[in-house]
Amino acid sequence: MARIAFIGLGNMGGGMAANLARHGHDVRAFDLASDALDRAVAAGCIAAVDSAGACAEAEVVVTMLPAGRHVEAVYGDSVFAAAPPRATLIDCSTIDVATAKRIAVAAADYGFAMLDAPVSGGIAAAAAGTLTFMVGGTDAAFAVAQPYLTQMGKTVVHAGASGSGQAAKICNNMMLGAEMIATCEAFLLADKLGLDPQKFFEIASVSSGQSWSLTTYAPWPGVGPETPADRAYQGGFATALMLKDLRLAAEAAASVGADTPMGARATELYEAFAADGNGARDFSAILTMLAARYRGAR
Ligand code: NAD
Repeated sequence: MARIAFIGLGNMGGGMAANLARHGHDVRAFDLASDALDRAVAAGCIAAVDSAGACAEAEVVVTMLPAGRHVEAVYGDSVFAAAPPRATLIDCSTIDVATAKRIAVAAADYGFAMLDAPVSGGIAAAAAGTLTFMVGGTDAAFAVAQPYLTQMGKTVVHAGASGSGQAAKICNNMMLGAEMIATCEAFLLADKLGLDPQKFFEIASVSSGQSWSLTTYAPWPGVGPETPADRAYQGGFATALMLKDLRLAAEAAASVGADTPMGARATELYEAFAADGNGARDFSAILTMLAARYRGAR
């Protein structure tokens, strides 16, 4: 069993740290929010006084923080100075590729092996230990981290060198954002054309329009398996987080001169939806904005 520092115990990190504790590790946890820290302690972690305190004597450091600036600050201000040189550093936050690479270079300057290991799967998957990890870094660091990641997820893929995990994450979520909007459009048009949404689901889910947004996460209530659409779009994957990932994808695309017109349009539509006070709603609720536009066109 290992001594693990876990920093960032929010919606995702709380469940992930609890799973490591459940597997018998000595998890030294820290979060700026005392209620998050209290929940981690109730789940079997040991509270640290600060990030540096969590890192003392750690064999592995895991971070699950909101954005790149938080990750850069926590590593720069605490982790690099406080973690023992043999520690393997794993950042599971979703951040921009450039910052992920920059932090990994800084880690290497201090002699640390560092991985970017963002996740797919939401709060429920974090709690259940069924996340997908996309990992960037060296083979040696991946070999050390893999057993721990496996205790927090069901699929762990070594995507390539530093930054590759973040690249995989934002490309996947750019596709998801565009695909969800296309799925909403198709349901709305089918409805306008007089097609029963259930019949449309039955046909498209086994035809060439099939996608995860349709078969697993249908944005139209009452069709397919239960989804946030059946719960008034509560829970699920927040619009604000989808928008965050689409913006990261746009930034990455600009940095390499890639043309991503569908990603760009999805970003615009999610920006409009979030600006209307929908940031906390599940991202499939964008169907309601598109539906209102239809009504406006009449
Ligand atoms: P969250 O806001 O619930 O949790 C982040 C935690 O970090 C908070 O508890 C906050 O207090 C803590 N924190 C911030 N700065 C800190 C610091 N300097 N020191 C210690 N703690 C600090 O966010 P979340 O939903 O858990 O998401 C975490 C990351 O996972 C994000 O990058 C997000 O994009 C990504 N992600 C989220 C989901 C999801 O469904 N929520 C899914 C996949 C990926």
